[in-house]
Amino acid sequence: MFFGTQRLPSPIHDLAREISSIDSVHEVEFMMGSVTTQPLFSFGVIADVQYADIPDGRSFLGTPRYYRNSILVLQKAVQAWNQHGNLKFVINMGDIVDGFCPKDQSLSATKKLVHEFQKFQGPVYHMIGNHCLYNLPRRELLPLLNIPRRDGDDNAYYDFSPTPEYRVVVLDGYDISAVGWPEDHPKTLAALKILEERNPNSEKNSPEGLVDVERRFVKYNGGVGEKQLEWLDGVLRGAKELNQRVIVCGHVPMSPGVASKAALMWNFDEVMSVIHKYDVVKVCLSGHDHKGGYFVDSHGVHHRSLEAALECPPGTYSFGYVDVYENKLSLVGTDRMQSTDFEI
Ligand SMILES: [Zn+2]
Repeated sequence: MFFGTQRLPSPIHDLAREISSIDSVHEVEFMMGSVTTQPLFSFGVIADVQYADIPDGRSFLGTPRYYRNSILVLQKAVQAWNQHGNLKFVINMGDIVDGFCPKDQSLSATKKLVHEFQKFQGPVYHMIGNHCLYNLPRRELLPLLNIPRRDGDDNAYYDFSPTPEYRVVVLDGYDISAVGWPEDHPKTLAALKILEERNPNSEKNSPEGLVDVERRFVKYNGGVGEKQLEWLDGVLRGAKELNQRVIVCGHVPMSPGVASKAALMWNFDEVMSVIHKYDVVKVCLSGHDHKGGYFVDSHGVHHRSLEAALECPPGTYSFGYVDVYENKLSLVGTDRMQSTDFEI
């Protein structure tokens, strides 16, 4: 490489002089390529739209929430993604509709939001968040969000390969959850047992009295089941064999460094030990925590939880796109979404 992708140490006329001194077309292309490196691909991101046709409110901790405005944030995002013109896909990090959405409007509101996403001129990948599950059961959500059923049940984890060099894994962070599955489903029962054992509060959505990472054992979080862990292991092993790099997306954050301890995946440690087994996962993207965060873990995996669309006061925005390069990913954020470079 004549130049790094980030810094241009020599003035541009030095490059012109160097180019004029060589005669191979290939060499010129290589040099130009090294200066104006194009991403391998780019994709759009947005998190926690949490729309509801209700007046503004506040979170449990008092953070303002703009339920009606959030659809305008999404509309602006779709407009920007389409204007960009070169995004391979868009990924919605979950919680499309808020839990306070009146239940007789859950279906129509979800359809309305999906319809807004469909205005993007390309594929849109969705994932399930807890607020989606407060509105509709999995059985109804999966087809609406175009998530294929897996293993003969309403499991919502999947992967795809946007280019030969990369694989995207979408985790189902509410695989083991007290919401979304039928009441007598083994996964509901497993989740209730975990909450009973780890959270002494009668209100299982409260982390009160729980210390440090134990605060994650609340009902609005969830976990990844045994079968999904095995599946993840297989996908990452396959990616390693194919020399692919992997981006893991999940609604619930997977590192205590990136989010509030009360917003962590129940078995983030088990998931991360599978991820750390193979040196292929470079970035983990999540939503759910709303305020946004960035952390690089001890194995060099970048964790980024995205700023919520729901918490944008009218006239402000939070969405972005990720440019994926050979040795770097760059999140280009708009307005409240911070831009972040992930050197890999
Ligand atoms: Zn959430």
